[in-house]
Parts: sequence; C-alpha cells; structure tokens
Amino acid sequence: MAEIIDGKAFAANLLAGLTAEVAGLPFQPCLAVVLVGEDPASQVYVANKIRTTEQVGMRSIHHRLAAETTQNDLLGLVHTLNQDPSVHGILVQLPLPKHLNADEVINTIHPDKDVDGLTVVSAGRLASGLAGLVSCTPLGCLLLLQHFVGDLAGLNAVVLGRSNLVGKPIAQLLLQQHCTVTIAHSRTRNLAELCRTADILIAAVGRPEMVKADWIKPGATVIDVGINRVPNGAKTRLVGDVAFAEAAEVAGRITPVPGGVGPMTIACLLANTVSGFCRSRGIAPPGWGL
Ligand code: NDP
Repeated sequence: MAEIIDGKAFAANLLAGLTAEVAGLPFQPCLAVVLVGEDPASQVYVANKIRTTEQVGMRSIHHRLAAETTQNDLLGLVHTLNQDPSVHGILVQLPLPKHLNADEVINTIHPDKDVDGLTVVSAGRLASGLAGLVSCTPLGCLLLLQHFVGDLAGLNAVVLGRSNLVGKPIAQLLLQQHCTVTIAHSRTRNLAELCRTADILIAAVGRPEMVKADWIKPGATVIDVGINRVPNGAKTRLVGDVAFAEAAEVAGRITPVPGGVGPMTIACLLANTVSGFCRSRGIAPPGWGL
C-alpha cells in the first residue's frame, strides 16, 4: 500500500514557515488580487486566497471589478499595480469574462510581480533556467516531490498534460531537477505503456480517474493534479485524474484528491509573493528547496 502524501499537512507547515518569515521582514509583503465579474467559483477561490494571505501576516488588496469592465480599464489597473511599490504580487483571477483578452492582461503584469508565474517572461525564464517566479501548482508539486522522494536526478518522469498552466511548467521543473521527462497529451500513443515507465507520474489532464492501477510502475510516485467534480448520488464529490484506491495498491507514494496538490497551490502563491517582496528589497529570497 502506497504512502499517502499529505499535501494539506505539508502546506500547513509551509504556511507556518512563511508566517515566521513574514514576521521577520522589515515591511509587510502585499498581494493584490483582481477579480472581474461574479463567477461563483472564482469568488470562493479569491476569498480563500485573501483569507490565507492575511493569516500569514501579509497584506492583501482586493479589486472587484464589474463583469462589463473594459480591456483598457483592466490594463490600466494592472499598470497602476505594477508601479505601486507597496504591491509585491499581482494575481488576476482566471477565467476572465469572454470579452476580455486574458493573454494581454496576464502579460501586462510585471514579471517580478507575476506570482502566478503565467507571463511569457516567467515561462521563458523557467525554460531557460533563469531565476523567476514559477506557477504555483507546478511549484507545489515539485516541493512535495523533493520532500517525499528526495533527489530526483536520473528518474523517469512522465507528465500527463501539456497546458501552459500545469503540464509544461512541471515538465520544465523536473528537467531542471535532472529527471528524464516525457510529456504526454491527447495524441500520445500507447499512453498506459508509457506511464508504466515512470518513476514519477504526474497526472494533469482533467479526466476523472483516467489513470488506472495497471498504468503505474510498482513503487512509482504518483502526483495527481486533477480536480474533477463527479456525481455522487444527489450530490457531487471531488476526484482526481487517478483512480486513487486501486492506484494506491501499486504506487509507492501517491497524493490524494482532495488534500494533495490543491493545498500546495495557495501556499506557493504566498511563497511567491514573499519572493517578490524580497527581490524588490534586494533581500535574498527564500529558496523553497529550489
Ligand atoms: P487543460 O485542459 O488546460 O489541459 C489538459 C491536458 O490534458 C491537455 O494537454 C490535454 O492534451 C491533456 N489530455 C486531455 N485528455 C487527455 C487524454 N485522454 N489523454 C491524454 N492527455 C489528455 O487542463 P489544466 O492543465 O489546466 O488542468 C489539468 C487538471 O488539473 C484539471 O483537472 C484542473 O482542474 C486541475 N488543476 C488543479 C490545480 C490544483 O491546484 N490542484 C490547479 C490547476 C489545475 P491536449 O493538449 O492534446 O489537448
């Protein structure tokens, strides 16, 4: 039976470390969160981010904009936040209403305040091995792997999914850690066979319980990024991209859903904000194991 990687406990430790770190800083780091429109899920995510930011002793600024906000108004706000020296991280909650150009908005964020790691500059820095802010979910996965597996050099990693948000940055991070990385996607042939070669299997596809026990090499470490809501009687429940119960019989270690990667995402968002603060003040940023 696999060791269950408790992302919730690990994230709580990371947040406790951040709280101590923030208490020792000369000024309060500040995260600005921009929410456009009334999307209920986004409202919950934003409330959660703001609550956790304040719990660790950081300041948060919340900009709530009407759904009909124009592209120019939103870009203007991002420019203002870029220039505000008291703001160290900027997060524009996605998805944006359809009439807005999210790529342009995201790429207007100053790379040093890009705590979601989504600008092309951040992606380029990551791909080039330069210091920069790394997107939160991939960073969370890496921190779990470094803690629970240790040295990753030479391991075969298969990343299921090639999104800019998750799959590609995770693959880059694993490559930096000297893994041999294969990125799989919807056109990949012999997917199960490929997955069975993985010492580290990352599932980020958004397909409920797609990865079965016989896709997993015995003893492998399985990181399940997927968050899928499936019917459960009259209600719904959350499942990952991995069939957890059967996979846990084969894997060496596995993250559950919920309670695995999810809690790491917000902890890494705040870690990135502290890093942004430190860089802006010329203080060495905490390493977070990287
Ligand atoms: P995307 O939809 O952007 O990307 C999904 C990827 O999976 C694509 O590359 C796609 O391939 C690939 N894919 C889809 N179906 C298959 C298939 N049958 N076989 C092989 N590959 C397939 O999703 P995201 O990367 O944004 O998110 C992935 C999952 O992670 C989602 O469940 C999301 O909710 C979750 N998530 C969780 C977070 C957390 O905090 N835990 C944060 C962000 C996301 P192709 O490119 O060929 O279409």
